Amino acid sequence: MSAAQDPNIPDFCDVLVIGGGPAGLAAALSTPSTLNVVVVERRELPSRKACDGILTPTTVRTLGTLGINPATDLGGLPLPTMQVIDRDNDRTWQVPLSGHLGVNRLGLDDCLRRRFLARPGAVFLEQTRALGFTTSVAGHRLELLRAGQRASIRTRHLVDATGALSWSRRRTGQAGPCAVALQACYPAQGPCPRFDWIFDRSATPYYLWAIHTGEDLKLGGVFPLRAGRHGW
Ligand SMILES: Cc1cc2nc3c(=O)[nH]c(=O)nc-3n(C[C@H](O)[C@H](O)[C@H](O)COP(=O)(O)OP(=O)(O)OC[C@H]3O[C@@H](n4cnc5c(N)ncnc54)[C@H](O)[C@@H]3O)c2cc1C
Repeated sequence: MSAAQDPNIPDFCDVLVIGGGPAGLAAALSTPSTLNVVVVERRELPSRKACDGILTPTTVRTLGTLGINPATDLGGLPLPTMQVIDRDNDRTWQVPLSGHLGVNRLGLDDCLRRRFLARPGAVFLEQTRALGFTTSVAGHRLELLRAGQRASIRTRHLVDATGALSWSRRRTGQAGPCAVALQACYPAQGPCPRFDWIFDRSATPYYLWAIHTGEDLKLGGVFPLRAGRHGW
């Protein structure tokens, strides 16, 4: 079925972003306003995601460059301290945080989407799944599935912002990861518990660790990714 048969789907755009999460919307908002940008998102919105809603100082700064002040626009509250409760090893640490804010993740996604939609010509297509793309000298053509109908959009720039398991990696023949490892390092000193990070193997199937070296505290984990899933 041709794209022209769905009036919501343009034939062509300058930038086509796959994935309407924070990365995709931040990329869309970062493009010059003279370009017309389309974002496609396979989920129906609002969509809940596994997220603690913690913004690091870098994230706060990045949102600032997009014109978003998390304290005023998202009701962000300061998170002065994280408490790590390591039930596996029967230990607890208090980790002071500086410049971290706690926000509602749904509110963050919604704020980014509204900012994007305020741009002239912005198109956000939810419940629209990217199926595959072809590339030629003229640009890219993305195949889509929306409401059970196939369609396509031509674009000059294609951005993959599909999250932890990159969709385009599989389309380009590269193997996707089978697990994602994360590690954070904090100075292990200071008072005041507020945000709790709990390590407990009896409560989670993930492999998590908390290592106290004496000078700092390393927190990490390995999260297995299930085949056929795009994200968490
Ligand atoms: C338990 C947990 C706690 C976390 N806590 C925090 C935290 O406190 N602070 C923090 O900053 N981060 C946290 N994260 C990480 C955070 O959730 C992710 O880093 C963030 O969502 C990544 O944003 P993204 O835009 O890259 O990906 P996503 O939010 O995953 O967005 C990708 C989007 O692409 C869409 N998509 C995928 N495939 C297709 C397709 N074929 N066609 C169309 N659309 C597609 C998906 O539906 C999805 O909406 C946490 C994660 C977990 C698991």
